[in-house]
Amino acid sequence: MNDLLPDAVERWQRIEGVARAVLAAYGYREIRFPVVEKTELFARSIGSLTDIVEKEMYTFEDSNHESLTLRPEGTAGCVRAGIENGLLHNQVQRFWYGGPMFRHERPQKGRYRQFHQIGVEAFGMEGPDVDVEQILMCVRLWRALGVDGLTLQINSLGTPAARAAYRKVLVRYLETRRAELDADSLRRLDKNPLRILDSKNPAMQDVIAGAPELAAHLDDESRAHFAQLRALLDGAGVRYEVNPRLVRGLDYYTRTVFEWASERLGAQSAVCAGGRYDGLVELLGGRPAPAAGFALGLERLVELLSPPAGAPANAPQVYLALIGTSVVEPGLKLAESLRDLGLRVECNCGGGSLTAQIKRADRSGARFALLLGQEEHEQHAVAVKDLRAGAGQELVGLAAVGDYLRRKLA
Ligand code: ATP
Ligand code: MG
Repeated sequence: MNDLLPDAVERWQRIEGVARAVLAAYGYREIRFPVVEKTELFARSIGSLTDIVEKEMYTFEDSNHESLTLRPEGTAGCVRAGIENGLLHNQVQRFWYGGPMFRHERPQKGRYRQFHQIGVEAFGMEGPDVDVEQILMCVRLWRALGVDGLTLQINSLGTPAARAAYRKVLVRYLETRRAELDADSLRRLDKNPLRILDSKNPAMQDVIAGAPELAAHLDDESRAHFAQLRALLDGAGVRYEVNPRLVRGLDYYTRTVFEWASERLGAQSAVCAGGRYDGLVELLGGRPAPAAGFALGLERLVELLSPPAGAPANAPQVYLALIGTSVVEPGLKLAESLRDLGLRVECNCGGGSLTAQIKRADRSGARFALLLGQEEHEQHAVAVKDLRAGAGQELVGLAAVGDYLRRKLA
């Protein structure tokens, strides 16, 4: 159970805010769909022989004996929502979404059972231009967040037919090295051999390195699509590496696939992954529509942010210390009037000595402490103490204190 404590939430909100602005700059609009869907939606789209569907889904039966699953990713739900609401047929759409995803995995650094993604999906555009646009969107996002050292790998998976031809060649090769295959790979050999190329097991890397390349089996159109993609990336000045063994863990990808990774993350190095899935809309019952998208993992991205300097962005600006029960009522009023002016005010509740309250004021991150005791109250004033400057305090009339604080905080 991975909790996000308030300090972490502030870093997350920074990413979310930057992402929101970057996505809007490319014309992507937010869409929200449920965290739970019928199980068959994922089985059909992700592929019943993938790791996700075979062993990572949180699936349960509801009281109507309907099999439901907590979403392990967002593309399937997004496509379902798009089809059901008539948003995909003969239209160009750019959507983004964010939120929790659920996969039953062995928890470890960078791998959680509830994790969060921001994903984008574009529909109705089949050229590599939109693939490049999405990659440029990532580049802009990394830059805006000040994250560097991310490297981009790309590949083309071709059409399903080209993949089927390659699959035969791959299986023939893997059969010759059967003795070196680990248990997972042996299991995948018949069912989903391409996934063996995605194995993270170091012992498998030699077998993988010797495998025939998919590129040699690409159909002409996919080859041209990929060449154009590379030319556009070159033209845009994006650095990338062609990794002929990059495959994705989901069955629905076609042609372009890409992945951003960082060495700083250790074993779970992938931050963002995506590509084209031209057949999925039709597979899920819509009229055929080309599509491309990616999803980025927020838990991993947040690891790459440099720690924020100074007080948290939403820390109170003013801490109001109330000395004695007789000033609670005027104190609450004063706090409200300051909030009316747009100030962030933490009001001391629950009493306590002056020293204790000043300590709390200091810990709150506020710049100013206001001290209101019986004496100040009688003078219609409050003592203002700048916590981040030297000692000393100033008595300011209640009518003037709002402007006084706003001026100092400007
Ligand atoms: P991996 O190879 O690391 O298992 P994946 O191929 O399963 O990744 P995708 O389905 O492509 O991952 O999801 C996109 C991104 O979501 C990943 O690059 C990663 O940043 C993040 N992600 C995926 N699974 C998890 C998880 N269990 N915990 C945290 N982040 C995750
Ligand atoms: Mg995975």
